[in-house]
Amino acid sequence: MNASVTAQPAATPAPTDFLAPVFAQYPLDIVSGEGPWLKTRDGRRILDLYGGHAVAALGYGHPAYTRALSEQAQALNFQSNAVPLDVRTRAAQRLIRFSGLDFNSVFFVNSGAEANENALKMAFNVNPGRTEVVALEHSFHGRTAAAATITWGAAGKWYSLPRTPFDVKFIPRRDLAALAQITDKTAAVVVEPVQGVGGAFDLGAEYLAAVRRRCNETGAVLIFDEVQCGMGRTGEAFSAKLYGVQPDMITTAKALGNGFPCSALLMTPRIAKAVKLDAMGTTFGGGPMACAVIEAVIDAIEKEDLLARVRRVGEYIRQQCMVGPVKGYQGAGFLAGLIMKRPAKEIHKALLERNILTGTSGDPAVIRLLPPFILEESHVDLLRAALLDIGG
Ligand code: PLP
Repeated sequence: MNASVTAQPAATPAPTDFLAPVFAQYPLDIVSGEGPWLKTRDGRRILDLYGGHAVAALGYGHPAYTRALSEQAQALNFQSNAVPLDVRTRAAQRLIRFSGLDFNSVFFVNSGAEANENALKMAFNVNPGRTEVVALEHSFHGRTAAAATITWGAAGKWYSLPRTPFDVKFIPRRDLAALAQITDKTAAVVVEPVQGVGGAFDLGAEYLAAVRRRCNETGAVLIFDEVQCGMGRTGEAFSAKLYGVQPDMITTAKALGNGFPCSALLMTPRIAKAVKLDAMGTTFGGGPMACAVIEAVIDAIEKEDLLARVRRVGEYIRQQCMVGPVKGYQGAGFLAGLIMKRPAKEIHKALLERNILTGTSGDPAVIRLLPPFILEESHVDLLRAALLDIGG
């Protein structure tokens, strides 16, 4: 044993010690949160318009959510999918009913990428012999092998694995002519109806309907990745509903658990029919605590009429925030992209100096707002004042 090592006094670790250094860090030391507010160790109050990458849909310390989580932890913290549980069945039924779409089966997993991974597997199951997937430029679908294959820019940047599991074609966004690249070789088309990382970029009803038609013509399965834009963020339960287009599968996560890790794959009867015993699997997915919080999130959205609030306050953002450095708007509801006259990074920093946390995106001109659904007009007024203060 090396005595000089063991004799060292224990130093207080720096915030990033012992952690893989893969995330750039905001200059924030957060100790607690309440509603849409974060509190720092030195007593600053920060208005959170980013929600931890679109996760904190109910904000911080929501009483019913916190109660549901602690009551389920006391009653039964875990049993696997080999054991039927009422709370799991209720969460699946509740999610399908909440969607208002033609789904009849849910597979619960743990993260957005994992939901996408399983959706892609199911697409290849229902389309055996097909070899490729069509995805959109500027898309983000996650960092696991299949999800990263369909993520724009992952190859050459961080994909890292020696090969991809299938072929992928990236087509330009909102380009109707490019839909001809979807063919009878295409197993699946994967689309975020409002792209998140791509800059809160809304694809619109006309384009999405055309994608649906082309999938029908070619037999390709249509997957909507609503990991970021789903669960009420656009002011409807799912963006599929907002744009009036029924996909074959929806993947969702983030707001679904309000911070408890969970995700879901929703399937239409056609896809559900193809699911065989052992076709998919998970240890943690569909655990009772995840299912209890999914129920609590849907319950809060419905009881507090939060979809109407997202629509109303989302529109208020669009009306009030075209000031100072902002020159345009894109997105929908609480997945809002403010297009800046100057680099978004500069504005992000200037807003944080004024105690407002926002997000950047893959588009260097776009500030992304992903606030909790409990946001009020008075909070938007603070953002407007800060933008005016920063100036054009
Ligand atoms: N899909 C979309 C649209 C996302 O925005 C993300 C994450 O940002 C993912 C998938 C991946 O989700 P996760 O990080 O939970 O794997």
